[in-house]
Amino acid sequence: TAAMIARRDALLGPAYRLMYEHPLHIVRGEGAWLIDPDGRRYLDVYNNVASLGHCHPAVVEAICRQAGTLATNTRYLHDTILELAERLLATVPDTGLAHLMLTCSGSEANDLAYRIAQVRTGGTGVIVTETAYHGFTDAVAKFSPSLGVSVDLGAHVRMVPAPRQYHARDADVADRFTRDVEAAIHDLRRHGIKPAALIVDSVFTSDGILPGPADLLKGAVEAIQRAGGLFIADEVQPGFGRTGEHMWGFQRYGVLPDIVTVGKPMGNGQPIAGLMATTDAVAQFGKNSRYFNTFAGNTVSCAAALAVLDTIEKEGLVRHAAEVGKILREGIAELAGRHAAIGDVRGVGMFVGVELVSDRAARTPDRELTTRVVNRMRDQGVLLSACAMGHNVLKIRPPLVLTAEQAGMVIAALDDALTTAQA
Ligand code: PMP
Repeated sequence: TAAMIARRDALLGPAYRLMYEHPLHIVRGEGAWLIDPDGRRYLDVYNNVASLGHCHPAVVEAICRQAGTLATNTRYLHDTILELAERLLATVPDTGLAHLMLTCSGSEANDLAYRIAQVRTGGTGVIVTETAYHGFTDAVAKFSPSLGVSVDLGAHVRMVPAPRQYHARDADVADRFTRDVEAAIHDLRRHGIKPAALIVDSVFTSDGILPGPADLLKGAVEAIQRAGGLFIADEVQPGFGRTGEHMWGFQRYGVLPDIVTVGKPMGNGQPIAGLMATTDAVAQFGKNSRYFNTFAGNTVSCAAALAVLDTIEKEGLVRHAAEVGKILREGIAELAGRHAAIGDVRGVGMFVGVELVSDRAARTPDRELTTRVVNRMRDQGVLLSACAMGHNVLKIRPPLVLTAEQAGMVIAALDDALTTAQA
């Protein structure tokens, strides 16, 4: 492994990062498993790209069939992209979302959404949560505060606190979130900046996995739309059934986005992402600009995405995510009786956050313990990572096909890791 790391550093340069103290070399994937060159199997509970399980046969078959028939772009008429648009837009009925535009990554989707919002509103102001991540392009990195001090936030960007109910204790986080967004709009205006968009990941992934109460977003969305800005729901993480409630995370809040951006699990590993937008949001952009993106919307990626939609339906994965996610959360909550470091267990569907603290009463983040637990679990064969401002929330985000038995393995490994990491 050491030789491979050195070779990689020499070839790929200094900007890449590997996960874990002892990085993994993986050669094969199958269901929720990743397999190393010696045949050791790791349970992958971190991968929300291979949402149907690694190398799902339906997706592999669709990719191979389409790659052997035609692989080309959106400058020709082709059924796959039209069928995909019809199928995806049918998952958001009665929302006004009428058009699908495709990209190759979630970053590009948010970049495009922001461009569209600027044209529609004539503004540039963006409001995001304080540890949000929305992507790596120059424009989007400027409103991705989770990148830390290495990237300057734009002067047109305002951050609002995420709805951290655990730390807010009994406060009404919905009311607070609305007031914070209103204050951010007001502050933008005072600086002569017109608001273009409020962008929210509806499970607040990088803020620490914080699915809020059902009334969380209503006031904030009303506020931005009243101010002439757009509401962009970033569904790159929660989308495609992960919440176990609906196909899309925003649906839990009963709000109507102007734009919804999607990605990651969309092609179960194929680079396909994009956005759905209302006619009103995109009309002026369409008049001003052409949109062409060489690989985006290519026939092979569209075929993969169609197979993903089929499989979610055929295998009943939204319901399955709810059922097994509940087993996972309840099992981990039980561990809290034995492990004082578990401060909070939360989440929705197949998205679980476990907040580790050094002092339960004060709710003090325990970053060091969290890092040790992540590494111990990797050594025991369970792959996950951490998120949140204090880097003290275990991020558990398995493929939706995780079985109840595999959930049991995660709980047992966590029990073990919490014991040994504190020893
Ligand atoms: N939005 C969110 C909420 C994300 O988590 C990510 C990626 N982690 C992105 C956008 C960017 O997606 P990509 O890495 O495909 O560019």
